[in-house]
Amino acid sequence: MTDYKKAAKEGSEREARKELLERLDTVGSDRMTTEEHLALCYYFSAHNYKPLENVFKKSSGIWVWDKDGNKYMDCLSAYSACNAGHRNWRITIPVALHILFGTDTLSRAFVHAEEGPFSAELARFCGKDRSLVKNAGVESVETAIKGARRWGYANKDIKEEKGEVAEIIVARNNFHGRTIAALSASTEAAYKRGFGPFVPGFVPVPFGDSEALYNAITKNTVAVMIEPIQGEAGVIIPSDGYLQDVRDICDDKKILMIADEIQVGLGRTGKRFACDWENVVPDIYIIGKALGGNLIPVSAIVANDDIMDYFDPGSDGSTFGLNPLACVAGRAYLRTFEKLHLAERSAELGEYFMAELRKIKSPYVTEVRGRGLLIGVELNTKARPFCEALMKEGLLCKETHDMVIRFAPPLVITKKEIDWAIQRIKKVLEAVNIFDI
Ligand SMILES: *Cc1c(COP(=O)(O)O)cnc(C)c1O
Repeated sequence: MTDYKKAAKEGSEREARKELLERLDTVGSDRMTTEEHLALCYYFSAHNYKPLENVFKKSSGIWVWDKDGNKYMDCLSAYSACNAGHRNWRITIPVALHILFGTDTLSRAFVHAEEGPFSAELARFCGKDRSLVKNAGVESVETAIKGARRWGYANKDIKEEKGEVAEIIVARNNFHGRTIAALSASTEAAYKRGFGPFVPGFVPVPFGDSEALYNAITKNTVAVMIEPIQGEAGVIIPSDGYLQDVRDICDDKKILMIADEIQVGLGRTGKRFACDWENVVPDIYIIGKALGGNLIPVSAIVANDDIMDYFDPGSDGSTFGLNPLACVAGRAYLRTFEKLHLAERSAELGEYFMAELRKIKSPYVTEVRGRGLLIGVELNTKARPFCEALMKEGLLCKETHDMVIRFAPPLVITKKEIDWAIQRIKKVLEAVNIFDI
């Protein structure tokens, strides 16, 4: 156990906090050690995450450097926020120029010169009429739920004034974010414990089971909201035809199909959207993460007028949503996506990465699966020690749902760099004793 954790165990948190603040004031954060930085986080940040123990200071492309100058390959990409690579100049330069010479946030009370161009390009990118832009991904999940409900009360025989509830069908083991509504849609006890009461109107069915979905539809159902590939659940890919079935059922029953593409859209899985794997077009796209170029939170719902027209003045809003800097970053990402052919790269390199991973003879690996550069390696044991060992070898990876290692490097990675990664992954996965690494 590290020293700072021991201090906490021994009940001297107050002393530790005082000492650390003194160090911060006298030595300065730059000269504090990795251990001291971890201690600052340990004593002053809420413990809602359990990060690997290291402190990073710089990033570029697919690489990040820790405080001591050691270099690592980023194989998580901030849960797919970093599709274009760290500090890609195609994004940082327009953003930096805008910060220096453009306008900062004005709120939506006024129109700025970045709003129209971004809205137009985003709608075109998604093949839809308009967008509603927010910040964190979960805000757009909320907006999609609001849009679907309002559309539902207007188009279906559901009497809101009599207390009838618009229902949205969701998939088990989904991840849509951390607000109360997103948690209400969740089936994950660890996310929900102690946070009730939850919002009514969410009906979970098994992911990938279109018959269960069909059977869950009632006269009050307004929408189905799914991730076309479940990321947080451990890179779960539905069987072929599922997305098309969902689309057909939604058409047949006249309900909306909402695709949460926050993690899997924008090139991550080798297509513009993960729904494109079945050439399915949902009624509402929810996008986020990579849209802000990994610099700023930018998310959006994108849909046609028949849904978007239900948002009238006063019905929704956000102080920072669609702020000028977000628009600049978003536009820069969309342009980078096209220029660097990120979806095609992801498809091609993902195939290669997976093929190489499958060649590894490991007693721990039970399955390698993925689409594009979103790859899950399922183990027959806990994945965390493997992620720790991989960090020692220079790869930053994160376990997902205990037994899955997710490999999701920035989409600008090259074949040679994948070879570099494979050598190290092979060493770790083939180790007789993982704790020897
Ligand atoms: C990350 C994620 C969210 C939430 O996005 P935040 O920016 O963390 O609020 C929602 N849905 C999916 C599928 C995600 O991966």
